[in-house]
Amino acid sequence: MGTTVAIAAMKTAEILGPGADFQIAEREIPKPGAREVRIKVQACGICHSDALTKDGTWPGIRYPRVPGHEVAGIVDELGTGVSEWQPGQRVGVGWHGGHDGTCLACRRGDFRNCENLKIPGISYDGGYQQYMLAPAEALVAIPAALSDVEAAPLLCAGITTYNSLRHSGALPGDLVAVQGIGGLGHLGIQFANKFGYRVAAVGRGAENADLANRLGANVYIDSKGTNAAAELRKLGGARVILATAPNARSMSELIDGLGPNGKLIVVGVDFSPIEVTPGLLISGSRSIQGWATGSPADTEDTLRFAELSGVRPMIETYPLERAGEAYARMLSGDAQFRVVLTM
Ligand SMILES: [Zn+2]
Ligand SMILES: [Zn+2]
Repeated sequence: MGTTVAIAAMKTAEILGPGADFQIAEREIPKPGAREVRIKVQACGICHSDALTKDGTWPGIRYPRVPGHEVAGIVDELGTGVSEWQPGQRVGVGWHGGHDGTCLACRRGDFRNCENLKIPGISYDGGYQQYMLAPAEALVAIPAALSDVEAAPLLCAGITTYNSLRHSGALPGDLVAVQGIGGLGHLGIQFANKFGYRVAAVGRGAENADLANRLGANVYIDSKGTNAAAELRKLGGARVILATAPNARSMSELIDGLGPNGKLIVVGVDFSPIEVTPGLLISGSRSIQGWATGSPADTEDTLRFAELSGVRPMIETYPLERAGEAYARMLSGDAQFRVVLTM
């Protein structure tokens, strides 16, 4: 006489090694460990940084690995020692997937720069699956007005643009340029508009002008047909340029469009150098700064601000089973604008 134990299974879209295609697999639903929460995933955004997992370019990444760091879902089960979340609560996890609370940066309250920062989909399996485990400190509450598919892209692309702009030093009425009208840029334009800036959208080609204006740009600058830096100078020079398109050369070309004390904030990832002369930085006391997302508390601010202001991502959705196709769509650059998996 034998006893059979039914093991609950779930679907994942995982990567077996660097450069491998997505594999739809069945795995046992994991049990949360101490200070972990199991999330029933409802939606997961596809971010360009998922290429770090797909291509194996993140140092030390181990396989098989389930990508995904724009996760929206429901608290399903709590591990021991978790009292701050309740089953049934709507939660998200973004790029900031956990911190140790003990390193020097954490002891200074600077969780974003934790020496042992965990990233979902890289340090542990992310949101391209029906259930995932996450450290309790990484979770954020999702406001009722945001659907799962709307919330997901705000957990990485949204917070990156919102948090960098709100710390940029630009004040209401200042000229703020958003370079790139894509996954990051279409959110950056909306946030910049809601912050009360005079918004210049910088895109390639005249065809993006209508959309940029609908998203809240006051001015559209076609960097293909004009010298975008000169156009910004004609408007008085930008207090801030938020560079979202992953293209170091077009960032370099815009620096001369900064006004006095102007700042280029870099959020689009590229691995070629930004070029600038010391003279260009010194005249007008201009600066260049990189910006990486924010803490879970910053992410909750982003979601609440989106709820309040009406900022929403434009999305295309795919079922989990078509993760490979959805990822290719993201890579093509043709998606309008964030691709989101639904479970
Ligand atoms: Zn991301
Ligand atoms: Zn730390």
